Amino acid sequence: MRPAVLNPLFASVTAQPGIGPKLGKLIERLCGPTMADVLWHLPTGVIHRPEIRHLSDVISGTYGTLSVTIITHQIPANKRVPYRIQCQAFDHPLELIFFNYHKSYLQTKYPIGKTLWVSGKIDRTAFGLKILHPDYMAENRNQIPEFEVIYPQIQGVTSKRIRHLLTPLLTTLPELPEWLDSAFQAKHRLPFWKNAIEQVHSPKNQSDLLPTHPARLRLAYDEILANQLALLLVRAQNKKYAGLPIRGTGNLTAKLREQLPFQLTSAQERVLIEIQRDMDSSERMTRLLQGDVGSGKTIVALLAMITASEAGIQSALMAPTDILARQHFDKIARLCQPLGLTVGLLTGREKGKQRLSVLSDLESGKINILIGTHALLTETVRFKNLGLVIIDEQHKFGVRQRLSLVQKEKGVNLLVMTATPIPRSLALTVYGDMDVSRLDEKPSGRQPIETSVMPTSKISELVNRLKKRIETSPSRVQAYWICPLVEESRASDLMAAQKRFQELQKTFSDRVGLIHGQMKGPEKDSVMNHFIRGDLDVLVATTVIEVGVDVKTATIMVIEQAERFGLAGLHQLRGRVGRGSTASQCILLHGPRLTETARKRLAVMRETDDGFILAEEDLKLRGAGELLGARQSGALSFKMADPTIQNDLLWTATKDAQTVLSLDPTLTSPRGQALRILLYLFRKDTELQTLKAG
Ligand code: ADP
Ligand code: MG
Repeated sequence: MRPAVLNPLFASVTAQPGIGPKLGKLIERLCGPTMADVLWHLPTGVIHRPEIRHLSDVISGTYGTLSVTIITHQIPANKRVPYRIQCQAFDHPLELIFFNYHKSYLQTKYPIGKTLWVSGKIDRTAFGLKILHPDYMAENRNQIPEFEVIYPQIQGVTSKRIRHLLTPLLTTLPELPEWLDSAFQAKHRLPFWKNAIEQVHSPKNQSDLLPTHPARLRLAYDEILANQLALLLVRAQNKKYAGLPIRGTGNLTAKLREQLPFQLTSAQERVLIEIQRDMDSSERMTRLLQGDVGSGKTIVALLAMITASEAGIQSALMAPTDILARQHFDKIARLCQPLGLTVGLLTGREKGKQRLSVLSDLESGKINILIGTHALLTETVRFKNLGLVIIDEQHKFGVRQRLSLVQKEKGVNLLVMTATPIPRSLALTVYGDMDVSRLDEKPSGRQPIETSVMPTSKISELVNRLKKRIETSPSRVQAYWICPLVEESRASDLMAAQKRFQELQKTFSDRVGLIHGQMKGPEKDSVMNHFIRGDLDVLVATTVIEVGVDVKTATIMVIEQAERFGLAGLHQLRGRVGRGSTASQCILLHGPRLTETARKRLAVMRETDDGFILAEEDLKLRGAGELLGARQSGALSFKMADPTIQNDLLWTATKDAQTVLSLDPTLTSPRGQALRILLYLFRKDTELQTLKAG
């Protein structure tokens, strides 16, 4: 249970005095649901409003606060003319000017002869001083802050509003035990948590806002440390479950290798050994296999599954889409048949009798290898002796989901495969709970993909060239034509794909097809099969084909609005071509207005075809926060750790967490106890539970 000392931080925003449901919703959207989230909503600016004590203190065009006496009101005849209040400050004329005003309000609130404090940007003119729309007009000096903190704001939630909400909490912050290593803290001069929070919310100048300011650094470090510690707890937990040791005889894998028309690359051999070693050990395997598109992960997965079959143990391969599951099934069933192994298929589309028969064959053990979508493990699917689960293309799975998977199937060896490599420096953040294998070599004989970038305005030229290529090429040439569909539900995107399809029909008539995510399964299959059989020259697709599809004669990839994709997405799409032995091309089309980052991204795509390099570039262009955010579908993004400092902190925090856990694996020492509080603070309750579960 969460320690009571944290309760004030976990009070919900909507329960605060003066926060109605509407405002509450807006603040939740901006910061998050609890007061801790508001604390983590860090200022982005500060306005200094020094008190003006002499006329000579005024620096024209800067903010200041001063006392004025009202002399006259200059009431305009119509609304288009500003309302002016003439005042006096230091025996000198000063004019307050209002464009949006309530006449009667100004008249009654600020009667002639009254003295009050005003604050705003002060300008010197030939006629005296003036302030356009004063920010504050108050009876007392102390109603105007000397340093006004600016927070990221949205319509309806101003900085003042956030400040107001935070003030009571900032004055009653709990004292939390120190969870930092004291030598580390001293060396970097990091303030205590409470001081750090106070400091970040009371900046005095621009340098107080820098991510490298000790107070900000401390909070960022806390956040990252909590994350890394949580990952390592999960990892330790994974290791605690005894795994089912799986040692194959080597007979069937040898037979399979004989059937293959190629030799495994040395990277494939190396990775396979890593996997088999894990499977053989009495600890359960939790391994990530990173390998670029086309690096040949499937065959490695298959050899691992066949190894399990040799030991009489069942395995399951989960793919993210029906299309991919079917494609895996077709290939794997064909390869396994001569080995005498039975392969089953189970997706949401297997229904009725067919489904029941798969389920009973699984339970009886007749099926050796099951292939399906990830509904596999969430349903009441019962295996006889499942020992190996492989998840393909699963870069969208967060740590939480992996953890729940692990807890559901204790003892089962887990291999996760991703074609979206992530930079080494981030691997620990995202996959700190797993061991990592890298398939960093492509099968030989692959033709490089030539990538070009062109504006959409040249599209008809491109279509003509494409037609000519398809008609005159001696061997079959097919093309994918991608229209981005960022959200499945966005009607305008879907329409763009349909429109492009109709446009292309004018040139390619019935040799162009359309496939998108809102089509029904069998409909998708039929289009895909037409394309695979060569009945279609061009396949217009939304991003449904992004993952895994393998058609060797498809050698041209056109991507519209390429600027809307990240590098990882573009690389995935491009990986759909270049699978055969003929040269392939990728054409990136972009709209008229390109941001600097988008331009760089497209240039990088033209320069390299290596997913690992692209991942590093993506990190440079986008920063870790955004990269992780996008990849982890929100499961992992840092609130306080600014992207510019994340990399360094990650390494230190990971080392720190490793050291702590090796000395105090149950977190019972004084520092361990404090770290528990840190974990609760960052809502790592689930991960902390693993300490008990073990
Ligand atoms: P990915 O890693 O993207 O999932 P696949 O497993 O689909 O890649 O492999 C891509 C293609 O490369 C497949 O057609 C596969 O048969 C082939 N392949 C795999 N390994 C090799 C190899 N060592 N030599 C030649 N071709 C290979
Ligand atoms: Mg694959």
